[in-house]
Parts: sequence; structure tokens; C-alpha cells
Amino acid sequence: MIIVMRHDATKDQVSAVVSQVEAHGCRTHLSDGDERTVIGVIGTNPFALRDLFIEAPGVAEVVPITKPFKLSNREFRARDTRIMVGAHEVGGHRPWLVAGPCSVDGEELYLETCRHVRAAGAHALRGGVFKPRTSPYSFQGLRGDGVAILREAKRETGLPLVCEVLEPADIGTLADIVDVLQIGARNMQNFPLLSEVGRLRKPVLLKRGMSATIEEWLLSAEYILSQGNYEVILCERGIRTFETYTRNTLDLNAVPLVKELSHLPVIVDPSHGTGRRSLVTPMALAGIAAGADGLIVEVHAQPEVALSDGAQSLTPQAFAHLVEQVDAVAAALNRTVGVA
Ligand code: PEP
Ligand code: MN
Repeated sequence: MIIVMRHDATKDQVSAVVSQVEAHGCRTHLSDGDERTVIGVIGTNPFALRDLFIEAPGVAEVVPITKPFKLSNREFRARDTRIMVGAHEVGGHRPWLVAGPCSVDGEELYLETCRHVRAAGAHALRGGVFKPRTSPYSFQGLRGDGVAILREAKRETGLPLVCEVLEPADIGTLADIVDVLQIGARNMQNFPLLSEVGRLRKPVLLKRGMSATIEEWLLSAEYILSQGNYEVILCERGIRTFETYTRNTLDLNAVPLVKELSHLPVIVDPSHGTGRRSLVTPMALAGIAAGADGLIVEVHAQPEVALSDGAQSLTPQAFAHLVEQVDAVAAALNRTVGVA
């Protein structure tokens, strides 16, 4: 349920409503807009309290949110959420470009890739050090040794880092160096992990699970928001279908649909969404055309020696070309990539 305060409601009236809601055992989340303050009321049956508030001083209306996701719902916050990552405002006018290898697999190659993607116009670096691999015999990431390489890449390029946390213990290892914590597709419904990153005050990139519905995905975002961390960036990375010629089926319906349903920014991962290098740029362009707030793209200085996901990694040259083309599509939509 949301309690919409009148335009002229005073701070004291807002506080009085918040205290009364909390006295009835519900939790509150405030959304301060230019126009009006909205109080989100979360509890098992908040609408039962409706009559208590409908006449309260400063209250304009009390509206149920019928969908199960509440704080991520556009009804709770009408305006797009914008999240600062380094110098870039994710969810703002310019698409956010994150690029780098699937995993950090060696210092020289990682730094070389990072220099290239920075020169091409990337706003943030990616590179996993804790890797969720289907086989226990596959490369699992450099772990602590990889963190030192991430630190060097950030120092050299000045770009923020996006990096996956596989389990709560990884958060401590990464929190002071990484700017955006990624929750991978396989962990989208790891509820203790979601709650844990919800207790941080650091942006979270929440990938869609490979067989998750859009509603399940938004409910996972809700786990993070309901702990007080409102900085969630959603990422469509493809879902499992019967098709075998691609690794996943990139569900671009999700982009405009999530924008209708939610105020959270949504980006596209055309690398995992396709699994094939030749399809990455076309689907990146389609993602931006569909209204995505950015892209996360796997790039490797030598994809043929990459320890994970080489087949879907672009060369630095191909990434530079992708940025030029994305810029052309963005410009056609009155958006631009590149630095402000
Ligand atoms: C990744 O980004 O390297 C990754 C493992 O992605 P996903 O969780 O989408 O499979
Ligand atoms: Mn990968």
C-alpha cells in the first residue's frame, strides 16, 4: 500500500503518519518526489490499516499496490531511479557501458583489455574473480589474487568496477574496491545473499535468473530494496528456451516491460544473452533501441586464450566498433554514449 501525502503536507504530518504505521507493526519506505511524498507501507496486510490513514492530516490518498513487488513498482516511485557509478548516472540520459573480460585471468591481459575498453569509451570495467561455473573442474576465478589485479586496473584507468559476489563471504573481500556488486543469474534467488547486499549502501547489478519470470526477478530486487538499499540496476542476460544455436534467448521484451512496471534502471548483457561473438553487437544495438539504460559486454584482449567465455568475448577492436554503432543508435533516439 502507498500513502500519498498532499503537496502541502508538512514534515511533521509525514512523520506522524510514519510513526503511526510503524506502531501498527508495518515498515515504511519514503519516496520524496518534487511533487509529493509517498510513504510505502510494507506488512502482511497493510491495506487493513487504510481507514486509519485516509482522514489523517496531510494525507491525499491511500492506494493499494496490487502487484507483489512494491518498492520496485512504478506506482511507488513514478520517476526513473538514477544511480551514480563513478562519474556516470545510470538510468539517466546516456547509456552506461560496462566492458571487460568474463573473468580476470591474468594481470597483463586484464590490464591490456581495460586500457582498450577505456579508450573505446567504456564507463566501467567488468571482470569476475569468483566465478560461478557449471563444472567444478572449470576455472573458478583468481579469488584474492584477482582482487589485487582489479585494484591495479582501477588505479590505472580511473574507472569504477563491477564484480560478482557468489556468496556473502565474498562481500567483505570486494566491498572496499568494487563499485557495483553483481548478483549473477544463478544466484538471483539466493535470498540470504540478496538480503545481505540489501544491507549495504552500494549499487547492486541484479541479473535475471535463466528461468526466472519478470515478476520473480522484480521480487528478487524487492529483497534488496526492502533492506534499505535502493540502488539496484537490473540486467537482462537471456533466458533458457528450447533453442540450441544460441546459449540463451535474449528477452528484449523485458526491457520496455520492466520500464513500464518498475522505476529501476535496466541494462542488457548481449554476451551471455547470445553466447556467440558474432551476435553480440547486433543484440547490443537492439537492446539500446529497446530503451535499455546500458550494456555489459565481455571483451578480451586475446579471446582465444580466455579462461572463461572466450567464444562470446569481443576483441577490443570489435568493442570499439560496437561503441561507435551504439552511439549512432543512441543518437537516433536523442541519447548519446560517451562521457558527459
Ligand atoms: C558473468 O557475468 O560472467 C556471468 C556469470 O553472468 P550470468 O550470471 O548472467 O550467467
Ligand atoms: Mn561470462
